[in-house]
Amino acid sequence: MSDCIFCRIARGEIPSGKVYEDEEILAFKDIHPQAPVHVLIVPKKHIATLADATPEDAPVLGRMLELAPRIAKELGAGEGFRTIINTGRHGGQEVYHLHLHILGGQPMPAMLK
Ligand code: 5GP
Ligand code: ZN
Repeated sequence: MSDCIFCRIARGEIPSGKVYEDEEILAFKDIHPQAPVHVLIVPKKHIATLADATPEDAPVLGRMLELAPRIAKELGAGEGFRTIINTGRHGGQEVYHLHLHILGGQPMPAMLK
């Protein structure tokens, strides 16, 4: 998926506010933050949506979840945060490369972002 925006960010072709990187995961600041802390955690592998993930993807998905509290705390959202994965049209997904939103740094409203 050479023209996928998050693949291009993962390859370093487009600058992003990178906050974490390892061999298979990248985390960067959302370009339009909805909270004082708003980070996207993505697999470097192109997986379009959560519904497209396979059993082989389970380890990287688990690692994304395990990283979330560490990244949130590092960025000042140690009091708690919200995790969101929007999936497909009805889920409100805009970028079709799987991403986990981390939102925090303030009390989050009762409903979603
Ligand atoms: P979705 O609705 O697909 O779950 O959310 C996509 C998110 O990606 C949005 O919050 C949007 O602000 C963010 N986003 C879209 N394009 C870019 C980009 O080029 N760079 C960064 N850092 N975030 C982006
Ligand atoms: Zn992609």
